[in-house]
Amino acid sequence: MTVKNKVVVITGASSGIGEATAKLLAQNGARVVLGARRENRLQEIVKTIQEAGGQATYSVTDVTKPEQVQALVDLAKTEFGGIDVIFNNAGIMPTSPISALHTKEWNDMIDINLKGVLNGVAAVMPDFTKQKSGQIITTSSVAGIKSFPGAGVYGATKFAVRNLMEVIRTESASEGTNIRTVSLYPAAINTELLRTITDKTAKKDMDQFYKAVGIDPIAIARVVNFAIDQPEEVNVNEFTIYPTKQA
Ligand code: NDP
Repeated sequence: MTVKNKVVVITGASSGIGEATAKLLAQNGARVVLGARRENRLQEIVKTIQEAGGQATYSVTDVTKPEQVQALVDLAKTEFGGIDVIFNNAGIMPTSPISALHTKEWNDMIDINLKGVLNGVAAVMPDFTKQKSGQIITTSSVAGIKSFPGAGVYGATKFAVRNLMEVIRTESASEGTNIRTVSLYPAAINTELLRTITDKTAKKDMDQFYKAVGIDPIAIARVVNFAIDQPEEVNVNEFTIYPTKQA
């Protein structure tokens, strides 16, 4: 099987990496199901995809709400007859030093970046187990494989989802359910992500850094497309994606 005709659910599809991936996959013949909270953005993206001849639909989804994530997956089944891939991509990155004690943001990151991924996993697992196939792709981060000052809790959520993907892969291999997992570790990608930083110093530093080195989210979309394009017996399961200019 290839990307063509695959049914792909994407969270965090209203901007950045999710938007670029939805557009590229649809261009290559996938049927995409978009979830995020900003309905106007989802409507616009679905319209653009459909006008270009692609197949797409959306459901307003807050990934912290399990019933909304389930509804997104159920929409894939009612609209397109099944689900092949979930791309757990929704996330926020309000970085700050731990000593600043932005504890609400710590909780928000755990709820969205970690529990949101778990909600995606739970929503697809019954179907993937039954059909003995399925792909779970998750946007971790380079902060999920290295420790960066300011990214204590953000990195904790991204290390956590990396572990989750690898455990699902190994359990599925031993249970014979053929569920493939992919962890993405992007570095600086120019999206709307920095808007979630409230710490003034962290925001200033990150704005400058991204301006100097950041690359377009299409880079990640191409990697996701490549992973989905692999044959059923092949699990390409980890990708690090750096801008050439980033040390
Ligand atoms: P964007 O801010 O452009 O995209 C984030 C997406 O997540 C938006 O679609 C947003 O939609 C969605 N989102 C946020 N909170 C929720 C929620 N509670 N429920 C549903 N959707 C939500 O940034 P990116 O494209 O960069 O981010 C995508 C992923 O990539 C994130 O997981 C991020 O951590 C990761 N990443 C990004 C890097 C970068 O440099 N840009 C580097 C490494 C990883 P809405 O607000 O409409 O709900």
